[in-house]
Amino acid sequence: METFEIKTTFLIVGGGIAGVSCAENVSFMCPGEKILLITESYLIKAVTNLRCLGKMVQSFEVEEKEVKDSKLNENVDVLEDSVIQVCSEEKMVLTKSGKKIFYSFLCLCTGAQPKLIQQGNPFIFGIRDTESVLDFQEKVKSSRRLVIVGNGGIASEIVYELGNIEVHWVVKDSFISSTFADPGAAEFFQKKLEESEKPGKPILKRMRYKGESMTSGSLKGAALGPDWHRKIDISGGKSKHSLEIHYKTEVSNIKSTENEEYPLEITLSNNKVIPCDFLVSATGVDPRISHIPTDVSFELGKDGGIKVNEMMESSVENIFAAGDVCCAGWDLAENWFQMRLWTQARQMGAMAGRSMAAKFKNEPIYQDFCFELFTHATHLFGYQVVLLGNFNGQGLGQDYEILLRYTPDLEYIKFVMKDGRLKGVILIGETGLEETCENLILNGLDLTPFGDDILNPDVDIEDFFD
Ligand code: FAD
Repeated sequence: METFEIKTTFLIVGGGIAGVSCAENVSFMCPGEKILLITESYLIKAVTNLRCLGKMVQSFEVEEKEVKDSKLNENVDVLEDSVIQVCSEEKMVLTKSGKKIFYSFLCLCTGAQPKLIQQGNPFIFGIRDTESVLDFQEKVKSSRRLVIVGNGGIASEIVYELGNIEVHWVVKDSFISSTFADPGAAEFFQKKLEESEKPGKPILKRMRYKGESMTSGSLKGAALGPDWHRKIDISGGKSKHSLEIHYKTEVSNIKSTENEEYPLEITLSNNKVIPCDFLVSATGVDPRISHIPTDVSFELGKDGGIKVNEMMESSVENIFAAGDVCCAGWDLAENWFQMRLWTQARQMGAMAGRSMAAKFKNEPIYQDFCFELFTHATHLFGYQVVLLGNFNGQGLGQDYEILLRYTPDLEYIKFVMKDGRLKGVILIGETGLEETCENLILNGLDLTPFGDDILNPDVDIEDFFD
């Protein structure tokens, strides 16, 4: 294999939302410098149709481009290759194709990988990227019964979108969608699960097929962007659809069966046995870093991600990290916490880009204001869902109050209040309250004088507080 050398001022590893956002920001700040983005997937992601729902909360779509067609900015080159080693002493990385790339600043945006409940079983799938979704779609077509394990956004989206198949949803909690919802919101969503009619979908095309399965061995693509599930039709081979939710249960045993009607037999913690065609494991992700050996070990955060400070710098000099691969290691603001979501991948990528550029130019820089307030906009069960601050009372102990406004089929509004102040919000449906709530959380106004009227539909709180 021929080895050749490349020199670049900024090297960014990963073509997901964090890597692309990092490259765009460095490029903007240092238009005359050489920037190289290297990614092992053949697709890179770009944010499009950015929509501001408030001052801070945004929704967007993700566009995928093949590396060969992509030119992010004039001074950003994109290379399809894998980084296989980091030599921080020499400020150099080695790639699979034999290149030595020397950098002044390196940013690792290598994402995360699904935590599968069992590795190496061809009937256990994790969903991560476009290819894995298309493989999943194919598998569902020829299946009659599947088991889904997990209670976060991915599991919820899949359960909602599936059709013509017998679905068994295994959730460890007493209500669905626990990552983003509380029991009340779960009840609000529940009705949607019972509806058989779903809106029509456009067709998602495979841009290039590499013949890889979606089991743990092939993790090349970037994680999916928001609303991926709304673009695909996932229907099974049965004429009738059914859903059974197994609450407060976990999978206790998985058995591969031969010559049986179904290839897999799942035993639940309540001893129920479910024979099925396959199992989808949607039980969270792990930061993806161990596949790149480094000469100097990174300090890791408690979740195994590369620990970064508020400037997105790792413990190794001139190496930054952003997105799913990193762990926020600074003193977090009262109303912000880390969650591996597109919003944060984009914000962290941008922060890392600006921070690298500032270090290169020897200029002062401050942490972006977006890290003051947790914000997330998504769609679940056909509704717009906006989450702000400590929306599930995270970090508030037992000592907080909840105010609810709930109109079936229309909206679900939850205010989390502590000492009369708004600390977090769940807004489901088109409530139009996003910006007002952002302001109320950030300015910490004492709302005690308004009592429960704060959510009275006859009181226009938007007008009152904007
Ligand atoms: P990734 O998008 O994973 O990108 C990592 C990149 O690094 C990839 O391009 C990969 O090829 C590259 N790479 C890795 N190792 C190497 C290497 N050694 N050399 C070269 N390149 C390398 N978030 C939401 O906010 N809303 C949602 O609705 C939502 N739904 C999701 C649904 C699914 C099924 C999944 C899996 C995730 C979902 N997420 C959602 C999470 C969100 O997609 C991620 O948080 C976000 O995309 C992370 O971006 P990233 O750039 O950090 O990592």
